[in-house]
Amino acid sequence: MSRIVFVNGEWKPEAEATISVFDRGLLFADAIYEVTAVINRKLIDYPGHTARLKRSLEALGIPAPVSDSELLDLHRQIIERNDLESGLIYLQISRGAADRDFLFADGMKPSIIMFTQKKNVLENTKWETGLSVVTVPEGRWANRQIKTVQLLYSSMVKTEAAKAGADDVFLVEDGLITEASSSNVHIVTKDGVLVTRHLSNALLHGITRASVLSLAQGSDLKVEERAFSVDEVLSAAEVFITSASAFVMPVVRVDGRSIGDGKPGPVSRKLLQTYIQDRLANAI
Ligand code: PLP
Repeated sequence: MSRIVFVNGEWKPEAEATISVFDRGLLFADAIYEVTAVINRKLIDYPGHTARLKRSLEALGIPAPVSDSELLDLHRQIIERNDLESGLIYLQISRGAADRDFLFADGMKPSIIMFTQKKNVLENTKWETGLSVVTVPEGRWANRQIKTVQLLYSSMVKTEAAKAGADDVFLVEDGLITEASSSNVHIVTKDGVLVTRHLSNALLHGITRASVLSLAQGSDLKVEERAFSVDEVLSAAEVFITSASAFVMPVVRVDGRSIGDGKPGPVSRKLLQTYIQDRLANAI
C-alpha cells in the first residue's frame, strides 16, 4: 500500500512527494531527524523525542518549522492517514533549499518531511536469541578521505568564520592542520620547501593537490609530504589552498596574523599559472 507522507506542509502519496535537489539536507547533511515508535496507534516516548528534536534544531540554529501542538497533530494525522497500528514515524527537518554554498544565510525556510514504516515493533525474534556484535574503531567523522556529503561541520564553522570576517577556516587536530573547509592546505617554508600533509584518512585526497604536487615536483621546487603545525603556518613564507573550484588560492592572513608580507607570494602565483596552463592543455 502506498504511504501518505508529509512534505513541506502537504500530504502526498509517497510517489508524488518531492523535495528540492538543492535541499541542504541532501547536499550538506544539514538536517536533523527523530524516529518515534507507534503501538496501538499511540506514540511511544513522544515527549523525549520532541525535546531532543528541539535541542538538535537549536544546536544547528534551524528554526522549528511547526509549533509543538502542530507537531503533535502531524504525528496523530500521519498515524490516521496511514492506518498505522504499529510501526515507526520518521521526521526529518533540514535547513532548507538554497544555491549550493558552504555558507548559509540566516532566515532560511526549513524543510520538513515525515513518513511512516509499518512494523510490528512488539514482535522481535532477536529478543529471544540476542544479538552478536563486533567492535570497530570509533570512526564517525574520521573518514575524511571519503568525499561524502557529510559537510555539516565544515559548513557551520565556515559560516561562523564568515560572520567574523574570515573567508575560510583551517581545521586543526592535535595542533596540526588537516585541511581547510573544502580544500587542501599547503605551505612554502622560508627555505622554499613546499610542505603538504601526507595522505591518510585525516584529509580528502584532493585531485588538485595531486596535480599541483606533480607540477611542483616537475619544477625545481622541493616537496615534503608531512603534517605541519599552526606555528609552521604562521611562520611560513607562503600559504595556499587547492581545490577543483579555486585551483591554487593564496592565504595571506591566519588568525589575524599576516603570512609573509601579507600578499600572495611568487610560488603560489606561479603554481596557479602553471596549473591552469597545464590542465587546460590536458583538458578532455
Ligand atoms: N578537502 C576537502 C574537505 C574538500 O571538500 C575538497 C574539495 O571539495 C578538497 C580538499 C579539495 O579536493 P579537490 O582538489 O579534489 O577539489
